[in-house]
Amino acid sequence: MVSLKSDRELNFMRKANSIVARILDEMARMIRPGLPTIELDRYAETRCKELNVVPAFKGYHGFPASVCVSINDEVVHGIPSSKRILKTGDIVGIDFGIHCEGWYGDSARTIAVGTVSPAAKKLLDVTREGLYRGIQQAREGNHVFDIGHAIQNYVEGFGYSVVREFVGHGIGRDLHEEPQVPNYGPEGKGMVLKAGMVLAIEPMVNAGSHEVKVLGDGWTAVTVDHSLSAHFEHTIAITPGGPEVLTEISSGT
Ligand code: MG
Ligand code: MG
Repeated sequence: MVSLKSDRELNFMRKANSIVARILDEMARMIRPGLPTIELDRYAETRCKELNVVPAFKGYHGFPASVCVSINDEVVHGIPSSKRILKTGDIVGIDFGIHCEGWYGDSARTIAVGTVSPAAKKLLDVTREGLYRGIQQAREGNHVFDIGHAIQNYVEGFGYSVVREFVGHGIGRDLHEEPQVPNYGPEGKGMVLKAGMVLAIEPMVNAGSHEVKVLGDGWTAVTVDHSLSAHFEHTIAITPGGPEVLTEISSGT
């Protein structure tokens, strides 16, 4: 069943997700060549303690960290490590969620480390724009696949492909709720969207083939062809006035 959030519940979700946006933005500002990815995890844990919230991913199905950090051909679910050092030209995805007063927040973005190739920059720009194209479809009366259709149609126009194995999701009292929100699919199909739904929309876009595999650590998903992959995610609420992005700090990021 899909839970519809009341105005009061939405206010809790606005709060949780604004904290996610704030900490994620702070982590984005830390990104530089030479940074060990474990530093992002340490920072997130420190900030969660300061703000009296709980990291959502640590221990979730056994995930060992508070942040997912996925570099270059890593799609999602990369594990931060003192041995993984960011270098100029990398693209790094940071995915972060919290639990606050009974409600979850979830957001991700992919960031250039120093100067990156024009091809990498374009993948980031197109994936981010694909997310916003999807968000624009998250309206009362539309269907859930309208979101993925808009994303897929946009990013495939650049020769990129959309990951199938991982999808967006409803979010609220649980991190992952109904409905699933694929980043692909036929227009006009799937569940009818209603005001009060809160969705985490999260395109994962590969520069090459859509195929992914999970590494031996049991978590890190990588592109099979080792092409670059980007991931952007916002938690949004469907309101009578249209989609409201709950994890946005400033426009366009
Ligand atoms: Mg996420
Ligand atoms: Mg998510």
